[in-house]
Amino acid sequence: MNVEENKPLAPFTTFGIGGPARWFVQAETEDEIAEAAAWAGQRGVALFVLGGGSNLLISDAGFDGLVLRVGLKGIANDSVPDDPTPPGQVIYQAAAGEDWDAFVERTVQDCCAGVECLAGIPGTVGGTPVQNVGAYGQEVASAIERVRAFDLQQHAFVEFSAAECGFAYRHSRFNSTDRGRYVVTRVDYRLTAGGAPTLRYADLKRAFAEGEQPRLAEVAAVVRRVRLAKGMLMVDGDPDCRSAGSFFKNPVVGEGQMRAIAAGSEKEPPRFPAGHGQLKLPAAWLIEQAGFSKGYVLGKAAISSRHTLALVNLAGASSQEILALASQIGDAVEARFGIRLEMEPVMVGF
Ligand SMILES: Cc1cc2nc3c(=O)[nH]c(=O)nc-3n(C[C@H](O)[C@H](O)[C@H](O)COP(=O)(O)OP(=O)(O)OC[C@H]3O[C@@H](n4cnc5c(N)ncnc54)[C@H](O)[C@@H]3O)c2cc1C
Repeated sequence: MNVEENKPLAPFTTFGIGGPARWFVQAETEDEIAEAAAWAGQRGVALFVLGGGSNLLISDAGFDGLVLRVGLKGIANDSVPDDPTPPGQVIYQAAAGEDWDAFVERTVQDCCAGVECLAGIPGTVGGTPVQNVGAYGQEVASAIERVRAFDLQQHAFVEFSAAECGFAYRHSRFNSTDRGRYVVTRVDYRLTAGGAPTLRYADLKRAFAEGEQPRLAEVAAVVRRVRLAKGMLMVDGDPDCRSAGSFFKNPVVGEGQMRAIAAGSEKEPPRFPAGHGQLKLPAAWLIEQAGFSKGYVLGKAAISSRHTLALVNLAGASSQEILALASQIGDAVEARFGIRLEMEPVMVGF
């Protein structure tokens, strides 16, 4: 295990923002994760787990502790039949440091359904259960079979079934009750060989003729195209993807609150069922109604020119400049609708 000192963190993030880690370790094996945890424990040093850095805002002062970057690699899967009729279940075991989008591409090429709509999301496999990544009608929770992790409290490896992970919208035990307790080392996904793609989302449905059954690869390609149009795909040199994706979560409200919002708006608010009689409101709509447009600039921070929900680092923005823009937007939405938007990226070192 190689412990580095004062390692700049900005290059490890999609925002390109953040000061140094006091100490930094890249772990390639489960043993190195246990070793790094013991190292931090013996010194009483705080530990932060870094994946692909695509859902983080790191403070300009950096992180005064050990940053443990998870670099575990390897994917194993049950054999996939050449002609999977009828469709059958296949388990993929993916190490936490694998690139998520490359993993999706592999499953799509294998004709295994379950994560095709999650194509183009940056970050690692290990990051996916943390906020239960979701997009275009799918959430990773519905494909996850098991999560293996190192417990930093008990200093032992543990495994959780999907039910034990406590998944909900952008939520799991890993980003709520057990935040910071586990280092995910492997995720098992249950996919369907020969299964049909998920076509729930309007932008996806529109791309195919009524009644057409597209191949998984075609659906994943459309997802990537839609993402590219919104600046939500990592493309070298594209200023709109120097972000952490959506900066705000879509608020979930009760019917009474929804009626109040509708009564106070000129336009009928878009809404989606969120279960248990709750409704999900697009944060992007609230932000636009509160007076902000795509491309709005504050110092070196801006709203993406292609997506109202993404805040971007124009060039050399500080974390404080991003937060200043976020609070300007948050205050305006709260003043207009009485809803406090919740930030989606994880704040590190503040
Ligand atoms: C352009 C763009 C588009 C995006 N689109 C979407 C989208 O459509 N849907 C969506 O849900 N998200 C989206 N995101 C956010 C982000 O890509 C996901 O949340 C991703 O899963 C984060 O994974 P990561 O490996 O980069 O995690 P990081 O950003 O490194 O870390 C995020 C959190 O997860 C924890 N973590 C990471 N790895 C591990 C591990 N192995 N064990 C324990 N904890 C860990 C970290 O400690 C931190 O708390 C987008 C981001 C960008 C930049």
